[in-house]
Amino acid sequence: MKISHIEHIGIAVPNLEEAIKYYETVLGLKCYKQEVVEDQKVTTAFFQVGDTKIELLEATCPESTIAKFIEKNGGRGGMHHMAFAVEDGVANALEEVQEKGVKVIDKAPRGGADGLQIAFLHPKSTEAVLTELCEDPRKK
Ligand code: ZN
Repeated sequence: MKISHIEHIGIAVPNLEEAIKYYETVLGLKCYKQEVVEDQKVTTAFFQVGDTKIELLEATCPESTIAKFIEKNGGRGGMHHMAFAVEDGVANALEEVQEKGVKVIDKAPRGGADGLQIAFLHPKSTEAVLTELCEDPRKK
């Protein structure tokens, strides 16, 4: 696979509004989009930082993986995952990593936030960092 850049860093937050306030008033970034991703039971907020985005993730219900992450983390948020942009397609990359024995969470690409096709690799196979591969179908 060919990774072009870090597409985004996903950060779990207990309170999206407070988190946005920090990124905007302290770091001077601008939230350009908020989006509910029903599939993942999260509300996301995005900031562009060079080629990379910061993706804030707030749970929409207690069953959300983000809610569980925050609970495990003592009620605090924190870095949740790292997403790499792959140039030759998520499906190809998934096939390649599985041939290398990597455990995956998604066996096929699915729709993610911000119009991307995404798939998650299992942290057991990725040095403990939840890793997302993504591609922008609009950039083909
Ligand atoms: Zn993500």
